[in-house]
Amino acid sequence: MSRLIYFIADLHLSDERADISACFFEFLKNTASKADQLYILGDLFEYWVGDDNVTPLSSSVATALKSLSDSGTEIFFIQGNRDFLLGKKYAEQCGMTLLPDTQLIELDGKPALIMHGDTLCTRDIDYQKFRAKSRTWWWQGFMTRLPLALRRKIAQNYRTKSAMSTSKKSQEIMDVTQSEVEKVLADSQCDLLIHGHTHRPAVHNFDVQGKPATRIVLGDWYEQGAWLKVEDGQMELLNQPFVPT
Ligand code: MN
Repeated sequence: MSRLIYFIADLHLSDERADISACFFEFLKNTASKADQLYILGDLFEYWVGDDNVTPLSSSVATALKSLSDSGTEIFFIQGNRDFLLGKKYAEQCGMTLLPDTQLIELDGKPALIMHGDTLCTRDIDYQKFRAKSRTWWWQGFMTRLPLALRRKIAQNYRTKSAMSTSKKSQEIMDVTQSEVEKVLADSQCDLLIHGHTHRPAVHNFDVQGKPATRIVLGDWYEQGAWLKVEDGQMELLNQPFVPT
């Protein structure tokens, strides 16, 4: 039986962007609701300072995802570099399963490797250093014990600093390292990789150890809704314009 599966990433939902949220809710209601599975590959939120930071946005997203899950669409989530503190508690409220950073899944009877994609950008040394530190139990334990107001402030500072340093880094540094892509595919003996993070939606075909491989990059939601639709062995990157508000 053929299954309908959607992949999304890099929505960067925030209070400042009601247009993105509106498009997301519409996508859940009219598109994802017909699917068997929805995979969210990170950066659903612009930032996430802990599951205890309950906001009107986090609550309405949880309600919408939970209702999708209750009506029969399985939802999976991989943390991005913005929402890596999103934990089991919130995932449970959304009715979604939290997956590890890298996951091998079966797609149309074939293995596919899925991830957010930040780990592929190995030339961004500063970021990889921060990533290594921020994934340790002691850093996360320390951060999640800070008062919420302080955590929000830290996240705000981080966003500002990140925007400044990103604008200075070269396009090449910000993109994936091809040798790393080939390595993760070879290591998992898989010829399909799906990820987000770089905001450069595309289908890349290349060879890994003499065999054809494909890398599909999901689009971000800054200017429109964007998703990968997988059905009957067909894979399609699709866009949906924002509804004017
Ligand atoms: Mn990202």
